[in-house]
Amino acid sequence: MAYVISDSCISCGACAAGCPVEAISEGETQYQINPDVCIECGACADVCPVGAPAQE
Ligand code: SF4
Ligand code: SF4
Repeated sequence: MAYVISDSCISCGACAAGCPVEAISEGETQYQINPDVCIECGACADVCPVGAPAQE
């Protein structure tokens, strides 16, 4: 399952910068992950200061 960013995202952008496949983009209210592109590497979860990305 792809990673999903929760509502706790503070839009810092750290995850998007570290995603190896550029699956993360800035949405209207928070960052979001394209599930069709995510390779489930977990890098976004490791770098996020608020633990927003999680595997569902
Ligand atoms: Fe990108 Fe990896 Fe996070 Fe998927 S799990 S969005 S591939 S950093
Ligand atoms: Fe949001 Fe965390 Fe990504 Fe920052 S690193 S944009 S808080 S999901």
